[in-house]
Amino acid sequence: MTKNVIAMMNHVAAHVANNMSLIENLKQYAKENHVPIIMDAGLSFLLENIKKYQVKTILEIGTAIGYSAINMALAGANVVTIERDEKMYQEALKNIKEAGLEDKIKVLFIDAKEAFLLVENMEFDMLFIDAAKASYQKFFDLYIPLLKKNGIVICDNLAFHGLAEKNANLDNCSRNLRAMIRKLNNFKDYLKSNENFSTNFFEIGDGMSVSIKKS
Ligand code: SAH
Ligand code: MG
Repeated sequence: MTKNVIAMMNHVAAHVANNMSLIENLKQYAKENHVPIIMDAGLSFLLENIKKYQVKTILEIGTAIGYSAINMALAGANVVTIERDEKMYQEALKNIKEAGLEDKIKVLFIDAKEAFLLVENMEFDMLFIDAAKASYQKFFDLYIPLLKKNGIVICDNLAFHGLAEKNANLDNCSRNLRAMIRKLNNFKDYLKSNENFSTNFFEIGDGMSVSIKKS
């Protein structure tokens, strides 16, 4: 092998190693700061679907520190991701820069309920909904017009730590929490009955769905 090839392989290996430690650091940061990043099993499932459906462009609702966005970009996708919390937004920008993925991930600092005009000219292969659980239906209705034919929608945290499952005991939950869980359950019913999509639910991570646009 020529020196150049070896140097290039070392460069690639160093890049992969750097990103692996970056991912581990992000997980650690999330744990220490109680940032609700996607669970390991959920992330694997998300990345499998990106591969399976050959997803190239993703709109993510709920960036947090950029953990899922960085993983999806490392899997090859271009990501537009929306975050309304300034501290999270700044943290995400920092992490994306550190990962060298500024050309693959665009973070919009705005409430996703108000962000349609910023993305209305774009098209996406996938919509990943992972922000305020009470607003899933709003996010879904607002952004599905931007989905390409055969595009998919993936939602995270549909079980909401078991509280949004059948027969969950909500006696100790606040009124607000109960209202949120009711909305999340209504959204699941809405997905099931939506004839433009074919939806499957998975007991993976904190509960996930995959909806495929029929036309
Ligand atoms: N997808 C991330 C985790 C997101 S946590 C990951 O797995 O790595 C949910 C994030 O959504 C939080 O940072 C929260 O501030 C943000 N969020 C909640 N409601 C939002 C809204 N209406 N618009 C934009 N961001 C929102
Ligand atoms: Mg989540």
